[in-house]
Amino acid sequence: MNALAEGKAPPSLATLPSDDIRQIMWRFADRYELHMLVQSARGVARGPVARLVAAGGRNSHEWTAEKNSLLQQYDESGITAAALEPEQGGYIAGPKNLALALLAFELAWVDAGAATGSLAGNLGLAPIHERGTPAQREKYVAGAAPLKPGESRKQVRAAFALTEPIPFVGVETKMLAGKVRVADWTAGGEPLLQVEKRGRFITNMGFANVVTAAVDSDDARIKGTCMVILEEGDPGIWDRGTPTKKLVHQLSSTNDPVFNLKVPASRIVGGYTLKDGVIIPNFSHSDIIEAVFRRTRVTVGLMTSAKLLSAVEPVILYQRRRFRGGEGAPGTPRYELGIQQKEDALHRLVDIWAAGEASASLGFAAARLFDELDPLEKEKDTFFAEKKLTGRAAFKELNRAQNEALELLRSNKTSDDLLVRFVMLDSLAGVLCPACKLWNTGNGATMMREAVSLMGGYGVTEECPGFLGQKWMDAQLEATYEGPEAVQRLQLSVMMANELFLAQFRLWILEMRSLAGERPGTGACALATAMRLWLWTLNHVQSATDADGSKLYHKTRQGVTFPLADALCWLLAARQFILDVVELETKGAANPALADGLDGTVNFFTDLCHVQSARAAGEVGRVCAEIVHGYNRHPVWDEKSCQACYRADELTSLEGVIPGIDGSARAYSDVSETGEDHPCKAGPCVGFGGLEGFVRLRAKLDGCLTGCRLAKDRAAESLTHVMTREALDYPV
Ligand SMILES: Cc1cc2nc3c(=O)[nH]c(=O)nc-3n(C[C@H](O)[C@H](O)[C@H](O)COP(=O)(O)OP(=O)(O)OC[C@H]3O[C@@H](n4cnc5c(N)ncnc54)[C@H](O)[C@@H]3O)c2cc1C
Repeated sequence: MNALAEGKAPPSLATLPSDDIRQIMWRFADRYELHMLVQSARGVARGPVARLVAAGGRNSHEWTAEKNSLLQQYDESGITAAALEPEQGGYIAGPKNLALALLAFELAWVDAGAATGSLAGNLGLAPIHERGTPAQREKYVAGAAPLKPGESRKQVRAAFALTEPIPFVGVETKMLAGKVRVADWTAGGEPLLQVEKRGRFITNMGFANVVTAAVDSDDARIKGTCMVILEEGDPGIWDRGTPTKKLVHQLSSTNDPVFNLKVPASRIVGGYTLKDGVIIPNFSHSDIIEAVFRRTRVTVGLMTSAKLLSAVEPVILYQRRRFRGGEGAPGTPRYELGIQQKEDALHRLVDIWAAGEASASLGFAAARLFDELDPLEKEKDTFFAEKKLTGRAAFKELNRAQNEALELLRSNKTSDDLLVRFVMLDSLAGVLCPACKLWNTGNGATMMREAVSLMGGYGVTEECPGFLGQKWMDAQLEATYEGPEAVQRLQLSVMMANELFLAQFRLWILEMRSLAGERPGTGACALATAMRLWLWTLNHVQSATDADGSKLYHKTRQGVTFPLADALCWLLAARQFILDVVELETKGAANPALADGLDGTVNFFTDLCHVQSARAAGEVGRVCAEIVHGYNRHPVWDEKSCQACYRADELTSLEGVIPGIDGSARAYSDVSETGEDHPCKAGPCVGFGGLEGFVRLRAKLDGCLTGCRLAKDRAAESLTHVMTREALDYPV
């Protein structure tokens, strides 16, 4: 018999979520090597990194000896080697997206500059990892492995140089000022290249000894763009430049370097072919950065999730202790609860927690998806190479696979076909990666501000427990580097319109509908309706025009495509959170360590899901309504006509204006189509000509919010008695 049937209050959250809970939710319960990685990264984050922050290590722009000492910590704890293949000195076999995501999460729990410093080394090597030749991988990627006892080689420390001084590369990655020319080329010998590159904001540049730099040809004997590997010690100029005066991530090193170096052509990432005396790089710089960023951006998104979740405990501790020592004695609400007596303070913390959970769920789902996709992508590349399929021929094959995948989805069948499996996952990865980078960091930065505000004046001091003030500002960098939000929105606006993604999205709506039946408390019902509303709007704008007859869905119309991209992110994050809570409920029961508190945690997370789904639904409703109605022109925009609308609202029953409240579309169309009893006949303000489906869904969406505030009240109540530690487990 459940608690309700027995007349007892259902169990609620007893303690903050443990590692066992996270391992189930983020699906690495059976991966012991990842448990170990999490523990060692946590040791570094909450030990040396936290001590350095607490000691004021963030107060300088220079790359100091203290900051440099963290590199050794990363090496000794296994953080550096986590990205490497076992044969290169690493210890994790297979794809490592989830591993690196967990690592970034743990480090960023304390300081995202530290996380960035460690990950930028991987970013510097990523062009070689993704597209390098075997010899390049052997030399540079394996060279990044920490030295074993007795070894005397110089360890590779890498940086990635794409961004250039204004007015060159930034968001627009094609405007390359960096140039490559042939410096010397003796007949039959390897060409020697002259590489000129200036960088702006290059991470790790205070100490890196290898740089992968994006450059364009300035020589008729070299075709197009490429990335080139530069080494400290190459003949010419290797100027690290001045440190950037950052307000953020000060535990990483960022400089504006200048290079003018001679390097052999074998340093072109991925190699080259010679044709009629012209060097043709096998990969353009765009090919390479696309392959690199689509993985590394996920880890950046998770850095902001870690910040939000790391804020929960310090805020609770602060709130509860706020009034101790005043008039209240132990045992009184004032003494025990402090600010937690106030509903708003609790509700805001619930919102922060829910946003943190949803963003972590989305980020880890994206990381896992790339772990699935990586081997398929390699198989696909091998398949194409064996069949000698390139360019149009390869595109045709992928197109065939896409059509087959669509057919399979329609008929609810699966396939073992390599390309079909690849295109299906790839269409999801193309959405989940930018969605997680965009939403986790952008909305995360906004929510971090909320967390800071809950700490009162302390929030904006260096002494703030959990370093929340710094984390707020840091979140803005995470929203900016590796492509700011505009870049992610651009990419999403293309990828979210892919039929194959949309076909899977439709199935997700059904999935949420069915979950809503089984677990109404999750808010899956509101989410499913919001998903339908979003899909309706996307379909609508693809053929609709604005009041002047201009197309709404167009790449230049960012006022339409970007908000729709944002709205999608809310849906994806809330959906994934629900799925993770279902996973916890389903699999958690099998873990004896969770026997005691599982039900309470599941109940609490279910309420958080409801809160987040309602918030997502509200956001989607607002965005979609603005787009659907906002591009129509009001017929007569004067006080008189608006007064007429108000009168009409009074005259018309609610059922008449908002169809779906009673399921009656007829009453609505009486008003909207004929305008018989309405003075604002053809006007879009109440005469929704042709938009009945939208209006009905939107009204339904409001109804689906039933219970969401009760869920928030319950979650808020849980926060007043959840057990915390006496103090944070890292210094302040
Ligand atoms: C601390 C730090 C570390 C960094 N590390 C590295 C590194 O290691 N390697 C590296 O190569 N780079 C690095 N960067 C650079 C970073 O990736 C760029 O700053 C970022 O990509 C944005 O480029 P930008 O600053 O030139 O912005 P801009 O290109 O000037 O864009 C500014 C803003 O204009 C708007 N905008 C621009 N283009 C569009 C568009 N097409 N549509 C709509 N809006 C648009 C957006 O709001 C955008 O945020 C780092 C930056 C910082 C601050």
